[in-house]
Amino acid sequence: MEAGLDGGWDSVRGLLGGKGANLAEMTRLGIPVPPGFTVTTRACLSYLDGDGRLPDGLWSQVLHALHAIEDRLDKRFGDPAAPLLVSCRSGAKFSMPGMMDTVLNLGLNDETAKGLVALTGDEHFVFDSYRRLIQMFGTVVLGLRDELFENVLSDARHVRGVTSDADLSADELRTVVARFRDLAAGFPTDPAEQLRMAIEAVFSSWNGRRAVDYRNAAGIAHDLGTAVNIQAMVFGNLGEHSATGVCMTRSGATGLPGLEGDFLVNAQGEDVVSGTRATRPIEALAQVMPTAYAELQAMAAKLEARYHEMQDIEFTVEDGRLWLLQTRDGKRTAQAAVRIAVDLANEGLIGRADAVRRVTPSQVDFFLHPQLAVAARQQAADEGRLIATGLNVSPGAAVGVAAFDPDVAQRLAGDGRQVILVRPETKPDDVHGMLAAEGILTTRGGRTSHAALVARQFGKPAVVGVGALEVDLVGHRATMGELVIEEGDWLSLDGSTGEVYAGRLDTFVPDISDGWLATLLGWADDLRTLGVRANADYPADARRARDYGAEGIGLCRTEHMFFQSERLPVMQRMIMSDSVTERRDALAELEPLQRDDFLGLFRAMDGLPVIIRLVDPPLHEFLPTFEELSKRITDAKIRLSAAGSLDEVDDLLGRLRRDEDLLRQVRALHESNPMLGLRGVRLAIRHPEILQMQARAIFAAACDAAEEGGGPRPEVMIPLTSDAGELIRARQVIDSEAAAVFADRGITVDYLVGTMVETPRAALTADKLAEHADFFSVGSNDLTQTTYALSRDDAETSFLIDYLRTGVYDHDPFSSLDPDGVGLLIDRAIAAARTREDDFEVGVCGEHGGDPASIAWCHAHGLTYVSCSPFRVPVARLAAAQAALATAS
Ligand code: ADP
Ligand code: MG
Ligand code: MG
Repeated sequence: MEAGLDGGWDSVRGLLGGKGANLAEMTRLGIPVPPGFTVTTRACLSYLDGDGRLPDGLWSQVLHALHAIEDRLDKRFGDPAAPLLVSCRSGAKFSMPGMMDTVLNLGLNDETAKGLVALTGDEHFVFDSYRRLIQMFGTVVLGLRDELFENVLSDARHVRGVTSDADLSADELRTVVARFRDLAAGFPTDPAEQLRMAIEAVFSSWNGRRAVDYRNAAGIAHDLGTAVNIQAMVFGNLGEHSATGVCMTRSGATGLPGLEGDFLVNAQGEDVVSGTRATRPIEALAQVMPTAYAELQAMAAKLEARYHEMQDIEFTVEDGRLWLLQTRDGKRTAQAAVRIAVDLANEGLIGRADAVRRVTPSQVDFFLHPQLAVAARQQAADEGRLIATGLNVSPGAAVGVAAFDPDVAQRLAGDGRQVILVRPETKPDDVHGMLAAEGILTTRGGRTSHAALVARQFGKPAVVGVGALEVDLVGHRATMGELVIEEGDWLSLDGSTGEVYAGRLDTFVPDISDGWLATLLGWADDLRTLGVRANADYPADARRARDYGAEGIGLCRTEHMFFQSERLPVMQRMIMSDSVTERRDALAELEPLQRDDFLGLFRAMDGLPVIIRLVDPPLHEFLPTFEELSKRITDAKIRLSAAGSLDEVDDLLGRLRRDEDLLRQVRALHESNPMLGLRGVRLAIRHPEILQMQARAIFAAACDAAEEGGGPRPEVMIPLTSDAGELIRARQVIDSEAAAVFADRGITVDYLVGTMVETPRAALTADKLAEHADFFSVGSNDLTQTTYALSRDDAETSFLIDYLRTGVYDHDPFSSLDPDGVGLLIDRAIAAARTREDDFEVGVCGEHGGDPASIAWCHAHGLTYVSCSPFRVPVARLAAAQAALATAS
C-alpha cells in the first residue's frame, strides 16, 4: 500500500472495523460480496458510554440502509412473500478471531420460514437456517448456554443414528426448531426487533470477558469499540451445490504459495471452524465445484495484489456461485512469515525494505527455538511411543505434562512445570491456559480452528485434530485404545510435523538453514549501517556466530577458558602461588592452552575483528567458596578420626592441607564488595604477569594464524577501566609483549588496544581514555550496574522484580538499555571518541546488544556495532535494519 494511503486506510479501519473496511474495499474492487452496510465503531462507543442506548437517529439510519439492500435484491426484511435474511457481524479494528459475536439468518420467524419454504421448496434448508438463527440468537443475544442447544441436536442425531446435523431430515429439524423456541423464550418474532437486539448484543460483546482477556493478551487497546456489519445472507447450506469454507492465499504454516484451507458442502458459517464436522481440504473443492474454485483462486490473487499481503478469506458457494464474506491479513507461523515476505518481494508485490519491515525480531528468534532431538525422536518411535499424528499447525517442539483443563494448566505452569494443554478443541475461554502451556494439543479442529490460530499468534507449538485420541474431560485423561494418558503424564509434541509422543523427549536448537531467512537477513544486511558482532568465548561459538552472520567477535571472555575442568587446577595453583616465579610457572602451563583457543577464534573469524577481553573477574571466583571449603575440611577431619588404614590417613591429610591452604587464600582474597574490588584492569596491574601471559598468547596465536595464510585481526580489550592511568600502564605491557612476539616470529600483525567503558567515570573521562585507546566497547551490563549502583545478581531476585511489578521502574534496565541515564553516559563516550576520530570504533557488548529496542537506540546514537550472543545475531541483524528503516523514513 502506498505510504500516503496508509494513514487514511488506518482510520477507515478504525471507523468501520477491519471486517467492514475490507468488505467495502472488496465491493469497490468488484469482488462478489453480498450487499450490506456497516454501523461504525463510533456508534458502538456511544452505545457503551450512553448506558446501553443506541445513539439518536441510528435506528432510522439502519432501516434506511436496510431498505437499500431490499431494493437491490428485491426482497423485504420480514416479508413472507420474499423474505430478506441478514447477518449481523461484529468486526473490530484488529481481528480478534472468534472473540466477539455474529448472528446469521436474522429475519426468520414462523411466517417468513413458511414463505421461504414456498419460494425454495427446500424445507431442510429453511429449518436448518431457522434453528441456527435461534441457536445463535439464544447464545449471543440472550446469553443462553450453547450446550442447551447442542444437547437437543445431539439427541436428534442420536435418535436418527447420524453423526452430522446436515443429515437430519427436514421434519427433525422442524422439531429441533420447536424445541429451540421453547429454550429461547425471549426470541423475538419481529425481525426488526431481532436486528436491533443483535446489534446491541454485538456492541456489548466488546466488553465481554473473553474479548477483554484476548485484548489484554494481544495488546489491543480497549477503547476502540467494534463495528457491526449487516449483510444479506448467502447460503452455503442450500444443498449439494453449496458450500462454505475458509482459506489462506498461502500456507499459514510454511508460507508455500497456493490456497490452503478447509470447506464443507451444504453447511453454513461457523461449521468449518467449529470443528464439529470433518472438513475437506480446499484442493478437493477443485473437483467438487471447479468453477467456484477457479474463481476463488482468481479472487485470492486479486486480493493479494490489492493488500500486498497474504489473505485469510471466508467464502460461501450458494448454488454454484462464489461469494466472499471476509478477507483479512492471514495469521502465520514465523517460518511462513519469513517465506511470505521474501516471496512477496520476489513477486514484486512489495519492496525488499517492506519485507524486512514485516518480519518481527521474535519471528526470526523462533528459528532458534528448540526442536525435538533426532535421536530421541527415533528412539521414542522405536519404542512405540509415537502415539499419534495430527495437523501440524504451529511449529516447534513442546514438552510438558498433560493438563486437560486451562485452569489446571495455568496452575501447573505457575508452579514452574512445563505443561501441554490437551483439549478436544479450544474456545476463547481457554486462552489463559493456552498461554500458560508450552504447547497445545487438540483432538478436533482443522488448520483454521481456534486452537491453531491462537497457537500461531502466540508462537506456541500446537498439534490439532489428533482424532485417534479421546479426551475425557471429566476423568481428566485421554485414551487411545489401551493407552491412557493421565493428567501429569509427560507428552512431547512436534508442531512442525504434527507428531505426538508419550514421554519427555530431548530437544535441541536448530541451525538456521532456512533459505528464505538467509535471503531476508541478507536484505537486512544491505539496509543496516549498525554492525553486528557476537559474544563468543570458544571457537565453536565463533563458528556458529559467523554462520549466523556475525561480523566479528565483540567480546571474548578469556576467563571462561580458565574455568574448564582440566585448566582450573592450574589456574588455582597460579592464584595460590607465594612467589612470582611459581606464578609464572603456572601461567606458562596455561599459555599454550590460551594460545590454542585464540588461534581457534582467529580461524573461525578469519578476516574479521576479534575483541579479546583480558581476565576480568576477581580471583576468588576461581576458588571454591568459603562455605564449601569449611564443609570439606570438617568432613575430612571427621573421616580422619575414623580412618582405617595409613594410606587413607595420608590421603586425607593431604587433602586437608590443600583445602586449608585454599581456605587461607580465600580469606586473603575476601572483599566485602567484590564487584567494586580487585578485578578487571586492577588485576592486570597488580599481577602484570597474568596480563603478559595473555598478551603473548594473543599475539603468538595471531602470528600462527598469519603464518597459515589467515587474516587475524586481534583487538585487545582492557576491562573495568576508570582512569586513563590504568589504561596507559596496561597498554604499555601489551604493546611491549606484542613487539617482543613480533620480533621473535619475524612477522607483524596489526592489532588494536582498547578499553571497556563500563564505569561512569570511564564514560565521563572518555576524552582522556580516547587518547590511549584505539576503540571503546561499552560494557552495558556493568555500566548499568555501576550507574544504578545496583548489583544485578542480587537485585533480580529481590527488589528489582517488585520495582517492575509495582511500576517504580517502567522497564528492566538490564533487558533494555536505559536511555535516560546509562544512555547519557554512552553518548558522552561516543562524543569524546568521535572528537578524536570520525570513525572511532564504539560498540556495545552486553545483553542489550540482542534487544531490539536497545539496538534501535544504538543505531540512532551512532554506535559502530552491537555485540550479542550468537543466538541473537540473526535477530540483531534484522533489528538493526529495521532501526535504519525507521530513522530513514
Ligand atoms: P467471525 O469474525 O467470528 O469469523 P463472522 O462475522 O465472520 O464472524 O461470521 C461468522 C461466519 O458466518 C463466517 O463463516 C462468515 O463467513 C459467515 N457469514 C457471515 N455473514 C454471512 C452472510 N451474510 N452470508 C453467509 N455467511 C455469512
Ligand atoms: Mg469471520
Ligand atoms: Mg564488566
